[in-house]
Amino acid sequence: MSKAKCPVCETRMAQAEFRPFCSKRCADVDLSRWLKGGYAIPGRPADQAEETPSYKEERDE
Ligand SMILES: [Zn+2]
Repeated sequence: MSKAKCPVCETRMAQAEFRPFCSKRCADVDLSRWLKGGYAIPGRPADQAEETPSYKEERDE
């Protein structure tokens, strides 16, 4: 449980103080992503933002 990778840079040298992040830097990076409304990737065309289907397959059985 103590070998979780840093979600930002995926190093395994995460410090307990900042976990699951390896450092305050990575914690800040992740926080800023969330504050911007999700994991938007710089350079991604805005028109492609809705590519992921939002519906769920539901079956009545
Ligand atoms: Zn990191």
